[in-house]
Formats: sequence, C-alpha cells, structure tokens
Amino acid sequence: MNEERQPRPTSDATRTCRRCLRELPPERFRHLSAECRRDSYCLDCRRDIVRQATARRREELGRLASRPDDDGRPVITREENPAFRRALILRALRRVEESKARKLAKATPPERTARGDGHDGDTPIS
Ligand SMILES: [Zn+2]
Repeated sequence: MNEERQPRPTSDATRTCRRCLRELPPERFRHLSAECRRDSYCLDCRRDIVRQATARRREELGRLASRPDDDGRPVITREENPAFRRALILRALRRVEESKARKLAKATPPERTARGDGHDGDTPIS
C-alpha cells in the first residue's frame, strides 16, 4: 500500500472571509470554541463588525438619553468657540421646545370651533 496523501485542499489551508472575501490562513480567523469551528469573518472584519455594532448601539443610547458622545459630534460643553457653542445651545433649546410643543399638541384635544375673530360675539356688527 503506497497511498499517497492527497494534498490538502486549499479550503483547508486558507479560509475565505465571507465579508472581505480575502483568502487568509486560519490563524486570521477567530476560533469559536463553543461551535468547534472558525469564524466566517476574518479578525479584521470581525473587529470592524464589532466596532460598527458598538457605534450603532452607542448612537442609539445617546439618542435615547440625549447624552453627549465621542463620535465626533459637537459636544456643547467641550466646544471652545463661544459663538458656535451658543448656536449649539440655542439649537438644543429649540429642540427641547419643539418636543414640548409636540407633546402638548398630543395631550390637548383639538380646539372646538372658537370665536377667533376678535369680538365677544354678543354685539353683532351693524
Ligand atoms: Zn475579512
């Protein structure tokens, strides 16, 4: 018996990342011990994915709690230019007012047909 070992198929020596489609050695893929296999995404892509997910989550959290974040958006308390800072504050205030007005409009029922013409309605115009 002189059975020659077949050369390992390339798919075994390298893996193709499902995201960037690069062929990379298995070491460039995270080992998923829980699933007994390697990740389908290379380490670089996995890092990107995690980073994007984190950024998205933080953005959502920031929107909910309107907390300043570090993602390059202007932060009022860290803005050094006074004029720009004032503009930011005004914009923030306006946004608060808008949201208050929206809530108020939702809370109060639509006005009944009001006599909005300026006189009291008792004295007819001749
Ligand atoms: Zn990749």
